[in-house]
Amino acid sequence: MKIEKDISLLAYNTFGIDAKAKIFAEYYSLDELRELLRQYRGEKILHIGQGSNLLFTKDFDGVIIHSGMARARFLDDETVEAQNGLRLDDMIAQLTDMGYCGMEKLSLIPGEVGASAVQNVGAYGVEAKDVIIRVHTMDVETLEERVFTNEECRFGYRDSAFKHELKGKYIVTSVVYNVKPGEAMKTREEIIQTRMAKLPTIGEVGSAGSFFMNPFVPEEQANALLKSYPDMPHFTSPQGVKIPAAWLIEQCGWKGKKLGGAQVWPKQPLVIVNADNATAQDIMDLAAAVRQSVKDKFNITINPEVNYI
Ligand SMILES: Cc1cc2nc3c(=O)[nH]c(=O)nc-3n(C[C@H](O)[C@H](O)[C@H](O)COP(=O)(O)OP(=O)(O)OC[C@H]3O[C@@H](n4cnc5c(N)ncnc54)[C@H](O)[C@@H]3O)c2cc1C
Repeated sequence: MKIEKDISLLAYNTFGIDAKAKIFAEYYSLDELRELLRQYRGEKILHIGQGSNLLFTKDFDGVIIHSGMARARFLDDETVEAQNGLRLDDMIAQLTDMGYCGMEKLSLIPGEVGASAVQNVGAYGVEAKDVIIRVHTMDVETLEERVFTNEECRFGYRDSAFKHELKGKYIVTSVVYNVKPGEAMKTREEIIQTRMAKLPTIGEVGSAGSFFMNPFVPEEQANALLKSYPDMPHFTSPQGVKIPAAWLIEQCGWKGKKLGGAQVWPKQPLVIVNADNATAQDIMDLAAAVRQSVKDKFNITINPEVNYI
């Protein structure tokens, strides 16, 4: 294992925020994870992946834990178990190369396998929950391993029990996915091209992808809005009518607008970027201003997808 003290988290978050952590620890086996959790019991602990959905709002006065376990193996013809620290897209690339399909629509989503289950990542109509069979975890208190079935994870839109009642209690150690033999290269390539044209490239422009989640509103509210905005995109679902947050933000005139060093990404207004040495405060101020204007104009509350730390 590797333990560092008072380090910058710049390399560990895609927003490019230069916050500091009191301790940063990386483990390479479940035994090492157990040892770390034992050693730092009582301290504030945050397990991170690639840091592609985090906003460090201040220095972290605790222990940041990261997994260096990054292997995957077939359990049978249609089942793959991947360790938490493997980049999701590396796994998808390899599976596609090997002639397996099922996850290609999640191509190029940043982040690691562990967080794919926590966040229930999704794109182009597919979510991690559609391919997750079970999630292996370690209990932060008892240090015992526990397996959660797909149902027990209580997946929702960018959501799971690991963000609520199980938050901070379990570390996802590996995820078991269902895959199928099939050609997926063409779809993967198309998705990569579309994403690259629309989204900021990690390492070039700091962001955490979509800053807000798409809101769901009651049917009556959607119908009333459609009278004033007949072109409003909307999708009926069991949770209510989904309205793309990007559309709401664009209607409020935010596309490309800057506040301090933060900017609403001109090619996709759902994304807030670190355009010019933004501080976390710049990003929070811009997000709050965007959120308020959507509330004022449409009476719709949009909630951040990004985890404020
Ligand atoms: C350019 C860009 C595009 C993006 N596009 C999409 C998209 O299309 N769809 C989508 O869904 N998301 C998208 N995202 C968001 C991001 O990719 C996902 O949220 C991803 O799951 C984050 O993974 P990570 O490893 O970086 O997790 P982190 O950001 O490091 O952590 C996210 C959360 O998971 C927790 N966590 C991480 N690992 C573990 C673990 N092993 N056990 C328990 N908890 C853990 C953290 O504590 C934190 O609460 C995008 C982000 C960027 C920067």
